[in-house]
Amino acid sequence: MLRVVPFEMGNASMKQLLGGKGANLAEMTRVGLPVPPGFTITTDVCRAYYAAGGTMPEGLFPEVQEAMRRLEQAKGERFGDTERPLLVSVRSGSVTSMPGMMDTILNLGLNDETVEGLARSTGDARFAYDCYRRLIQMFGNVVFDLEGYHFEFLLQRMKQRLGVESDHQVTAEGWLSLIGEYQGIILKYAGRAFPQQVDEQLELAVEAVFRSWNNHRAQIYRNIHRIPDEQGTAVNIQSMVFGNMGADCGTGVVFTRNPSTGERTLYGEFLMNAQGEDVVAGVRTPKPIVKLQEEQPEAYGQLIAAAQKLEGHYRDMQDIEFTVERGKLYLLQTRSGKRTAQAAVRLAVAFVGEGVITREEAIQRIEPFHLDQLLHRAIDPSCRPDVLASGLPASPGAAAGQAVFDADTAEAWARAGKKVILVRSETTPEDIHGVLAAEGVLTSRGGMTSHAAVVARGMGKPCVCGCEAIRLGERAFEVAQADQVAATIAEGEWISIDGATGRVIRGVVQLREPELTAELEQLLSWADEIRRLAVYTNADTPEDAAKARGFGAEGIGLCRTEHMFMSPDRIPVVRGMILAERPEERAEALRELLPMQQSDFEGLFRAMDGLPVTIRLLDPPLHEFLPNLEELAVLRSQLTLRQDADEEELQRVERLLRKVRSLHEMNPMLGTRGCRLGLIHPEIYEMQAEAIFRAALHCSEQGIDVRPDIMIPLIGHASELKLMRELVDRAASEALGSRPCPFTYRVGTMIEVPRAAITAASIARHADFFSFGTNDLTQMTLGYSRDDAEGKFLSHYVEHKLLPANPFQVLDQEGVGMLIRWAAGQGRAVKPQLKMGVCGEHGGDKESIFFCHAEGLDYVSCSPYRVPLARIAAAQAAL
Ligand code: ADP
Ligand code: MG
Ligand code: MG
Repeated sequence: MLRVVPFEMGNASMKQLLGGKGANLAEMTRVGLPVPPGFTITTDVCRAYYAAGGTMPEGLFPEVQEAMRRLEQAKGERFGDTERPLLVSVRSGSVTSMPGMMDTILNLGLNDETVEGLARSTGDARFAYDCYRRLIQMFGNVVFDLEGYHFEFLLQRMKQRLGVESDHQVTAEGWLSLIGEYQGIILKYAGRAFPQQVDEQLELAVEAVFRSWNNHRAQIYRNIHRIPDEQGTAVNIQSMVFGNMGADCGTGVVFTRNPSTGERTLYGEFLMNAQGEDVVAGVRTPKPIVKLQEEQPEAYGQLIAAAQKLEGHYRDMQDIEFTVERGKLYLLQTRSGKRTAQAAVRLAVAFVGEGVITREEAIQRIEPFHLDQLLHRAIDPSCRPDVLASGLPASPGAAAGQAVFDADTAEAWARAGKKVILVRSETTPEDIHGVLAAEGVLTSRGGMTSHAAVVARGMGKPCVCGCEAIRLGERAFEVAQADQVAATIAEGEWISIDGATGRVIRGVVQLREPELTAELEQLLSWADEIRRLAVYTNADTPEDAAKARGFGAEGIGLCRTEHMFMSPDRIPVVRGMILAERPEERAEALRELLPMQQSDFEGLFRAMDGLPVTIRLLDPPLHEFLPNLEELAVLRSQLTLRQDADEEELQRVERLLRKVRSLHEMNPMLGTRGCRLGLIHPEIYEMQAEAIFRAALHCSEQGIDVRPDIMIPLIGHASELKLMRELVDRAASEALGSRPCPFTYRVGTMIEVPRAAITAASIARHADFFSFGTNDLTQMTLGYSRDDAEGKFLSHYVEHKLLPANPFQVLDQEGVGMLIRWAAGQGRAVKPQLKMGVCGEHGGDKESIFFCHAEGLDYVSCSPYRVPLARIAAAQAAL
């Protein structure tokens, strides 16, 4: 087992063993970039640590000490030396990047004596004490689990006492007094003194990093991003370089391109005379990277060269941490930069154009799920929002929600169904559950590379950062304008943020629908050349159909006709049909509905000229169209109690109540739905089929290429489909009369009842196509009521890993997937030409699309906004 690997010995391909940070530090060392020397303790050690119930493997520490000796030689300094002490950072580094989730300690090796040595050897006592107070704070945080506020409080108090605003104005004496106070905090709350033995510091720090793999926020992050718990973290021990040694020193973060837009410009921030986390933690608002050119032209030149070299080397946009010590540049980290969907698309296309990557690679680089964000809304340019303040546009997209001021409230309110915007001075990794719950994030401090910005971009949520005009209170914020309070927003008030411009707006603003950019069109056209699965859409209206077609849909995979019944102007007619007591009455109502349905279908055929339109006949239970049973009962008793009650009204209500009661079902999802309804009341389906054929005939007379696919829902038995098919065929020949049919139509079925999947061979005899209705199929296969499960036990199941994911979002391949595989195989054996696809929620989910591809289905059908995502995922599945 490899346990300790010096940077010179590793490379970028060793991520599993060295973690991302370690592997890239090794790679940068290998290609000759200026990286402070160091070594990595491998993820194997972390796994061994956890396997042994949280104890360090035997013999590890002597190995670490040996590596330390080599580091001492390289630097010409000694760890714990009172004259020229070697200082190191102890840095976590997981396999998959988890920004800010785990812990790092800087300046290890300082104690009450070595700090004096550092002061003497650098001739800068202020600097030495600054390093030491940072060490004690980080050590307290990471090793002893002490809350940051203990330290922050003392720091603020000391600054007030000295009458200074900013950390870099604090004098040596100021830091020295703080060091004493910090040590007191450690003693008081950790119950032991800050360790003066440097070897002990090192040992404790390494173990604390391993422990941090299992801290709460890291676990949440892994759950969200589905990172396996077994992966573990490596620990990097690296000699320190100092950005806090004076005016010719600094530290920063730079992206080789703009991670928000994808634009080809260096993008980043730095702070002079600062160390480590100062930039990302939002302690001071940093300066844009171009300013470095003025302040440190030489270091800036080195940075540009290094950035170019790294981007070329990794063939991707890089996110780089650097430090300038006395005018010389050092690189401390590089990784592929997190980016918005917009930037991801633009970068992928740009890199193809620059000859850096192939089209296939470009498609592989897009996270389909992420595209959802691109197709999200922006603030309508024509509206005049009440702009309260402006901050940095840190993650695009617009969002509206009720202001909340802490992560727990954000989570609780979101769980109660509210939309919230999380407002914080700055976010820390502890806030991650709040960011997850919020529609968007607003911070008053911190830059474009601050924690809030990075996390929001990663999650595809709008974010406005560093909005300095707002002053945060406990449960409200004030907006300052020219030192006056211009507005106050309390908890629960609605605000909107615009992550594209940085605007913070009072109230809810009008949002505009998204459009495809030229770059995305380009990428999608490459995807279309590669994919084999067709992508259809679920659409019930001509508007949705047209939108989906604009996004590249190749047909309608599911039109739910019940939505056409639900529109307010039709409900009375539909009710009339349901309540009819005599056949003539019902026929009359249906006659009224027929032309409405016909025009609905004409609209769809027109929008989908030349493409298949799959129309599902009525599915829901009839009582859904009637008033609520309890409400009616209440109304009836109110009427009977009234002296002056209108007799006719009372009778009407009585009649309605009787009908609603007779239609009431204990388990409507398993009741008289779908084809069951069609079999009991064939006249409804007959009307729908007639409307479809009339519409098709009418449209094709006008030269429209119509391709109706008529779909029967909830089939569980071949005999049901046989009858329903006869009904449709009869309607067709009645509509056609003696004319030859000018178009082809197909009759098929949903496969959504498990029995239908199991008996697919006999069902296929009567079907031209199968559409797997994976929502119902999941519901009935798992026996989970979708409407009840999500809010109740399902989240518990997912949290506790009883299920790998929510089966209504990600297809349960082992269970439901096997039914699909079986049914597809059986169907194809009977009818090789049987067309097959998926029309559930899963049609827009990447993993489920991969499954459909692997099973050889013909298409997936998803909501209009997911069509681009599905096109990319289908191409990825084919690569
Ligand atoms: P994270 O994974 O949270 O980014 P890092 O290990 O990268 O944590 O370190 C935190 C900060 O400390 C970063 O800004 C990094 O650049 C800085 N840092 C880490 N090691 C050193 C070092 N040896 N010298 C100077 N700065 C360092
Ligand atoms: Mg880092
Ligand atoms: Mg269904």
